[in-house]
Parts: sequence; structure tokens; C-alpha cells
Amino acid sequence: MVREPASERAGIRAERFLMIESHKTPLTILLASPRGFCAGVDRAIQIVERTIERYGRPVYVRHEIVHNRCVVEGLEAKGAIFVEELDEVPDDRPVVFSAHGVPKAVPAEAGRRNLVFIDATCPLVSKVHREAERHHEAGRTVVLIGHAGHPEVIGTMGQLPAGAVLLVKDVAEAQALDVADPHNLAFATQTTLSVDDTIEIVAALRRRFPSIQGPKMEDICYATTNRQAAAKAIARHCDALVVIGAPNSSNSMRLVEVAAHYGCPKTRLVQRAADMDWTWLVGVGRLGITAGASAPELLVDELVAACRERFDVTVEEVRTTEESVVFKLPRTLVA
Ligand code: SF4
Repeated sequence: MVREPASERAGIRAERFLMIESHKTPLTILLASPRGFCAGVDRAIQIVERTIERYGRPVYVRHEIVHNRCVVEGLEAKGAIFVEELDEVPDDRPVVFSAHGVPKAVPAEAGRRNLVFIDATCPLVSKVHREAERHHEAGRTVVLIGHAGHPEVIGTMGQLPAGAVLLVKDVAEAQALDVADPHNLAFATQTTLSVDDTIEIVAALRRRFPSIQGPKMEDICYATTNRQAAAKAIARHCDALVVIGAPNSSNSMRLVEVAAHYGCPKTRLVQRAADMDWTWLVGVGRLGITAGASAPELLVDELVAACRERFDVTVEEVRTTEESVVFKLPRTLVA
């Protein structure tokens, strides 16, 4: 006799529990809004598409243009080739730099090789780059609040000479920070951090270094702020909450943490409906759904549709703010 593995048997039992004959279990879905694509991601995707239209296939893209497999595969089908480093790009093909930004050495090397390059860095990340440069020119050491190894952090640190930026990731590191001149400091932040955590880290820096310079709030972008606010608004009204996004997407991971912190008993990241473990929803009457800034709305639709197959679904959208931000495309792609 062929037996299914235990996990499959549990899954089948849960599916039966959720859909007893035609009597599906009721499920209210609270859809957080705003969710999903931000203006920077939308612009980056359009840049790749327009570069392919203008220069033909293939167009090289350094690093995942945004952290979402579905987006990357869609662009690959249109003629994009994703690489990690510039030396993988042939001399005769254009290259696009991802929305996360790149160290200064990257466009410099592209220029030296006479490559056609188009920069899809989000304008809100470029703003942080300019701030860091301004502080450095004024002789200040820049303290960057962010996560080591994230492409945005690598890009921001790479705007200044090696050693000019000190990276801190949490309050403990801010409290232990060792600086040569405590009166000549400035801070900047990654754009996709937890708003609440960052306020605490900035407060810790200001306590230790009262003259530290920095933006009035922080550099966390409007999209990260709005998505976190929407997740907070639904978190305590849900029995469980799913964030659609990629594990390497900083803003998606922060949504998972924020929802848990604001009272949702169980939260998890799911890349798409096919990855859902439906046993996880046994006993859940109210399910929150949101999506990181790099996750397309079709993945939300797909998850809601998959829920409808298994439950008697009612959808309620909870909107905490309207968004109307649009970023211009580079001039070279508009004409
Ligand atoms: S999440 Fe924010 S910083 Fe990142 S691309 Fe979107 S708008 Fe720009």
C-alpha cells in the first residue's frame, strides 16, 4: 500500500476539516491597504521593460531588480538577464542597476568600460546617498542604521570612502559605538527598516551624541511607513496574518515582525499561494493579508482565490492612507 508522508496526511486532514463537503468554514480576510508595489519598485520594473524595448534583448540587470522571484521571472521572460556583478555583463549590452542602489564604484566601472547603463535606484535611496555625501563633505562621520549585507546598505556605504560610514543595526550597537570625534557625527538610515525600532536606535544615538546631525524623522520611506501602519491597524483584529513577500525583502520581513509586535497571535511570510501550509489556518476565523513593497498585487489575488477554494470567504479592505507617489523615469527612456 502506498502511504502519503505524515505531513501530507496532516495536510489532507486539514483540507477536509476546512471544506467539509460543500460547507466551507467561514473566513474573514482583512486586506491591509496600502500594500504591495511602491513607486520605486514600479519605476524600476518600468526601467527594465523600457530598456529592453529601446535596446532589444538581452538587457542585463545587476542584482535582482527588486526582491521578488515572480517579478524577476516575468522580466527574464521579456529578455532580462540577472547577474550579480558587472564583470558578467558583455561590453556590447546595456545594464540596469537595481532599485536598491549601488556603490559609486559600479557606475564608475561601467563608465570606464563604456557600457550603456541605466540606474534604477529608487529616488528615495538616492536621497540618502546625497545626505551621506553632504555629511562627509562637512567632515562628519556617518552612522548608518541598517542591516549588514543588504544591497541598499552596501550601496549607501559605497557612496563614501572605506571606513567613512559606521554601521549599527540596533540599540545595543548604538550604545556601544566607538567614534573618534563624538561632536562631529551624522546619521542616516536604510529606507526599509522598522519605524518603531529605528526611533529607538535614533534616540539611543541622540542620548549618547547630543550634537549628532540627521534628518528630522529618519530616512524610512513613505511606502515602508505606510505598509507598517496598515499592518499595525489590522494586526490585533486577526487570528493570523500572512505577509506576501520574499525572505530577502527587508520591508516584507519587517511587516512580519510589526504584525506580531502589534498583537497578531501568529504571522508568517509566504512567497505565493502555492507555498501556503493550509494546516496553519485551522481554527483561524480572521486572516490578515498584506504584501511587501516588491510583491505584485496578482500574488495577493492568487492567495485570496486559493482561500476562496477552501473557505467561505468575506473580504474587508482596511485602508489607513491613500498613496499617490509616482517617480519619473530617467530622461533617456522617456524620449
Ligand atoms: S520601498 Fe521605499 S525606498 Fe524601496 S523602492 Fe520602494 S519607495 Fe523606494
